Order: sequence, then structure tokens, then C-alpha cells
Amino acid sequence: MPTNSDAANLLDEIADILEFQAANPFRIRAYRNGARAVRALAEPLSAIVEDEQRQLTDIDGIGKDLAEKLTTLVETGELPMLDELRAEVPESLIQLMRVPGLGPKKAAALHKELGIENLHDLRAACENEQVRSLKGFGAKTEATILEGLDLAEAAGERMYWAHADEIVQALREHLEPCEAIQRLEFAGSYRRGRETVRDLDVLVVADEPDAVMDCLAEFPAVDTVTGRGDTKMSVRLADGVQVDLRVVPAESFGAALHYFTGSKEHNVALRGLAKKRGLKINEYGVWKGDKAVAGASEEDVYAALDLPWFPPELRENRLEFDLAEAGKLPRLVELGDIRGDLHMHTDQTDGAATLEEMIEAARARGLEYIAITDHSKRVTMANGLDARRLRQQFKEIDRLNQKYDDIHVLKGVECDILERGGMDLDDDVLAEADWVVASVHYGQNQPREQITRRIVDALANPNVSVIAHPTGRLINRRKPYDVDLEAVFRAAAEHGKLLELNANPARLDLDDVACAAAKRHGIPIAISTDAHRTAGLDVMRYGILQARRAGLTKNDVANTRSLKDFKRLYLRPEA
Ligand SMILES: [Zn+2]
Ligand SMILES: [Zn+2]
Repeated sequence: MPTNSDAANLLDEIADILEFQAANPFRIRAYRNGARAVRALAEPLSAIVEDEQRQLTDIDGIGKDLAEKLTTLVETGELPMLDELRAEVPESLIQLMRVPGLGPKKAAALHKELGIENLHDLRAACENEQVRSLKGFGAKTEATILEGLDLAEAAGERMYWAHADEIVQALREHLEPCEAIQRLEFAGSYRRGRETVRDLDVLVVADEPDAVMDCLAEFPAVDTVTGRGDTKMSVRLADGVQVDLRVVPAESFGAALHYFTGSKEHNVALRGLAKKRGLKINEYGVWKGDKAVAGASEEDVYAALDLPWFPPELRENRLEFDLAEAGKLPRLVELGDIRGDLHMHTDQTDGAATLEEMIEAARARGLEYIAITDHSKRVTMANGLDARRLRQQFKEIDRLNQKYDDIHVLKGVECDILERGGMDLDDDVLAEADWVVASVHYGQNQPREQITRRIVDALANPNVSVIAHPTGRLINRRKPYDVDLEAVFRAAAEHGKLLELNANPARLDLDDVACAAAKRHGIPIAISTDAHRTAGLDVMRYGILQARRAGLTKNDVANTRSLKDFKRLYLRPEA
């Protein structure tokens, strides 16, 4: 059965091919909207398809035609329309349109005008400066395409953590009934919560390894069994992801879990520490000569080296050993600590839900406060708000705040930082907001000094509360702006402003390293979902993982505060 992100990717592929073929824009749009809707669903598509009381067409963005196709996909694993389209366009051309910065339309032009058939042709044409001579391209586009090619290569086969997690949940559910399994854990970069994951590593303790391997082989998403031994098995899933299963003895489980969780850098450092104590550490245990002194649990393994147990998210050999040595290993922030969400959209701009639906969804998730932050007018694509519409929304929020006594709604806005610098809305309007999120959406390719200046100036504006997605990167798809983050940190610290960790699994911006740096500057981080529909509020957990990787505690994250403390610490007194 396809996961939601598989299904969404397939719909996007249909849209890509249709766009490549210059099909009707409305048709293309329908598939794009469908993909977005499926990707944002909080539950598996199959749950809705199988429930006779419910209809796929009840989901915003899914019409009758799409609902039929998705039902077929869930029930049979097939999408005949896509098969037909794929037969019309060779795979190498599909890869072409996937290059970041290119897209189906430009790919079609390159194919038609220069006869480019594949990535190899494309790189050659860029390097020979043929691309810049095409109408609508130019030297800058050519450079962007080259960067995109590099990015695509570097991204390789790494999937978003969120996608890996979908597979992991499905695998857990599949393996759970297997009675031979006594313990089961997923290790690797998945366990460390890295933003992207390549392979999945499963460790189990089991009486009968064969029974466990048989069970894994029956996982519906398995395409091929690529290897099988006495205690180790590898399979490749239909979407190309490799899963490695290892059956380990109970007395080595902790050592194996530690070893296969990594990171490599953390393990190398640990081996060094072991050596200093005259010990040896490997995937089977901690050894003094040939006697095992630890191995059954990770706690034992670390304790044998006089170390505390490290949360997997910290195991990168960046912070953890210094913190442990200073006795300051923090209690990392948890999803349960979160009390507010400070960035979300409604149907007044590019969100799918009404203001009231967003509030209800936030209440259902137990949030104490939220900020409604629709786009400002510069974002014409999203029907951004001008002063009049924003004030109207503020009035509506005032009215709804009367209605609810268990949630407080902050009057906010996601105000664009204009290309030439300055804010998209006047200061007198911004001053009426409780919470102003400032964002760069346009002019992302400006030189370092210019784009840094825009952000630093926004931080100096007394009405601005926080900078959203401060680097603009999209994982595997778009590089960060060329922004001087140190200058941004200095400005945020100087003006007492916050920075966002955007929890969208494709953004996770600021990333772990930058969040840790912001913490050193004493800058509070707002972990925000940037939800564009009610289910979007659930991406908070991806932001939490990234924050944990940065070593952030509850106190470092602004939206763990009670409403009262949040107002006192981060809002202007009159708000
Ligand atoms: Zn934004
Ligand atoms: Zn936003």
C-alpha cells in the first residue's frame, strides 16, 4: 500500500508530465492541489478509503476524478493514468524536470530547442554556455541549473525524515504480530532524527531469526530481497529505500543499537574514550580483554565509560561530550512542552481552512495560544492581505477571543520583507498586531550583503517579532539564501527578537547547527508549523526533533511558555 507521501509524489509526477506536455493549466493545478492535500493528511489515505462512512472528496483539494484515482491506487497499488503518461515521456526527461530550479516548463523548452535528453546533456549544455542563449533563460538561469544539478547529485537518495517515519510506522505495525520478536528498534540516522535519511536499520532480538526474516519478506512494500544470511537480511522497497534487518543476541542489543545508531563521528569519539580506559567497544559490547563488561543496554554501554546515556539526537560529536563533561547534559525539549504555535495561515490567503477551523484544530491539539499569520499583500500569488483586510481579520479575531476561554488567538501577520528592503505593510498597521512574522519570499538570489541587510533591518523594526524560515532553504530542492547568519544572530540578540525553526519537514529552517548557534547568542527560538491547513499543525514534531538535535531545552523555545509568560517575555507591553 502506498504511503501518503508516495501517493502525493505520484500526483505531482502526473502534474509534472502534464506540464511538460503543455496540457491544460487547470488540469495541472488539480493534480498539484491534490498532491498537496494528500501530503498534508494526518492519517493514511487507506483509512479513509476503507471507511464506508467517509469520502475522499470531503478532503479539500480532492475532486471526484482524483478521488477515484486515489481509491484505485490504494486498492490496487496502481495508477494507470500515470503509467500511460510515463510511456509518453522517457524517464530521463522526467529526471530533467526534477532538477531544482528547472521544472517541467523549462525542461520542455530545453528538450525542444537544444535536443537535451538527459542530465548528462543538460550539464554539458550549461557548461558550453548554450543554455544562456535560449529565450527566457540567460546566464543566471544557467548558473542556477548547474547549482541544481549539484544539489540533485548531493541529495542522492536521501528522503525526508518524515517520509522515513511513515515507512517505519508501517513496518512496525507489520512486524509487531511476529511472535519471534522480543525486541525491535530502528537505529541509524532515522533514530538520530536527521532531517534526511538514506537507509533504514532495524535491530531485533528474536528466538528464531528465520521467522523474523520471513515476516519482513512479506511486508507489502518489499520489492526485492537483496540479501539474506543467518542473522542479516536486506530488502529494497518499491520506492527504492533499502531496509537492513539484523538479529542480535539480547546480551549485545544495547551495544548493537548504539553502534548502528551512530553517528560515525560519535562512535569514533567513544572508541577513543574507551581506549583511554583500557577498554574496547564494538557492536557486540564493551570489552576488557575478552571479557564483556557491558552490552545488553545502551545505558550500560555508556556507564561502562562513565558517561551518561545520550539522547540519539545529540550523537553527532558536536556538543554532547562537552556538555556531559561539564555535567550539563540538558533535558531536551519535547513535543509535550509545546503550548503555542506562532505561524499559520487561513483561507484569507493561501491556507485551506477558515480562521475558526484553525482555532478549533489548535484547541483539539491542546494548544493554549496561536498566532494567525496570513501573508501580506506583496505575496499576490497567495492573495496576501492589505491593511484593510488585515484589520478586518484582527476584528474577527477579537470577536472569536470573546468566544473561547481555553485558547488565546494572537493577531499576527507574516509580513514580507520587500526586495528593496523595508516591510510590506506600514508601521501603523504592524503596530496593531500582537505578533509580526517577517519573511523573505522574493529576491532570494540577492547578493549576501543585500539580503543580510534586509533581514537585519527587519529585526531592527520595533514591530517585528520574529524572522520566519531565516535561510529559505528547501531540503533537497533549494539552497539557503546567501545570508550572513552571524550578522542575523547579532541583530536578533541586540533587539531582543526571536528566530523561527520552521517545522515543515521540507524546511526545518533554522537547521540544527544554526539553532545551536542561535542558542549560544541567547536568542529564543519559536518552533512553528507554518500550517496551511488544520492537519499542518501536526508537523510540530519534526521541528521538535531538529530542536533536540540542536540541544535546545524547554527554556530555549519560546512557545513552551505559558500564555502569561509568553506575553510578558516576548510581546510588546500593550499587546
Ligand atoms: Zn513564509
Ligand atoms: Zn507562512
